[in-house]
Amino acid sequence: MAARPKVAFFEFTSCEGCQLTVVDSLQTYPELLEAVEIVRFREAMSNTPSGDDYLIAFIEGSCTRPSDEAAIKAIRQQAKIVVALGACAHLGGINAIRNRSDLEETRRFVYGDKADWYETYPARPIEKVIPVDAVLPGCPIDRHEFIRAVKALLQGRMPVIPDYPVCVECKLKENVCVYLRGRTCLGPIARAGCDAICPTFGDGCEGCRGLIPQPNIASLKQVLGEHGLSLEQTMAKMTLFLTYQTMEREAVGDGKANA
Ligand code: SF4
Ligand code: SF4
Ligand code: SF4
Repeated sequence: MAARPKVAFFEFTSCEGCQLTVVDSLQTYPELLEAVEIVRFREAMSNTPSGDDYLIAFIEGSCTRPSDEAAIKAIRQQAKIVVALGACAHLGGINAIRNRSDLEETRRFVYGDKADWYETYPARPIEKVIPVDAVLPGCPIDRHEFIRAVKALLQGRMPVIPDYPVCVECKLKENVCVYLRGRTCLGPIARAGCDAICPTFGDGCEGCRGLIPQPNIASLKQVLGEHGLSLEQTMAKMTLFLTYQTMEREAVGDGKANA
């Protein structure tokens, strides 16, 4: 029997909810456990990791401390394929909200007189530290997309994620748009792939899968305003998951054109 590819899971700054979703996915598709050998998965393994020999590394969480960098780079050196798992790893996630605030002030607010105990710097996606081969967006990841991604990797293909907006999936599901129900939604600028799960259950999209290429943010802000959101509420909506991406766009001038 051919050796099964070795897979490892790593976590940095995160809630580990994406790894829990992996556990849930594997309960639904246990046959995948026969196709790979998991050598490191703190969230799910009771035995100690069986070494630093792995082919595929899934990294959950963003990089928020100088001391994370060496560990992330070591993973890149070992793994042939590195996949960023979830919004924290893909986009900096909700950790990046603080990137718009004074870091020292935030640290004192969170840790009080123990602030000096904890090193920190602005949150970054994993791809800002090392090259990554693929990303699985979402907070948490979509379990079906995770399974598709593993199958693709086992077949020697890279996982492909949609580059169209959530609205496309939402319309295909024949949902009534939440804007018609007096709610708001980032579906027009957010990357699809979650089967529009939030609007399907009556809630607006918060953009956890990140921006589509060339999003029309200016128009969406106008629509949000027309549907009763104040500037502060619009900014809050745009910063839950999109802080890192919008700050990057502002840095190169795109944000101004589209603000
Ligand atoms: S993306 Fe969301 S669910 Fe996944 S680790 Fe980050 S906060 Fe948790
Ligand atoms: S509910 Fe959201 S995702 Fe669905 S069509 Fe309306 S704006 Fe688009
Ligand atoms: S609808 Fe939006 S917030 Fe909900 S899972 Fe999909 S991308 Fe994330």
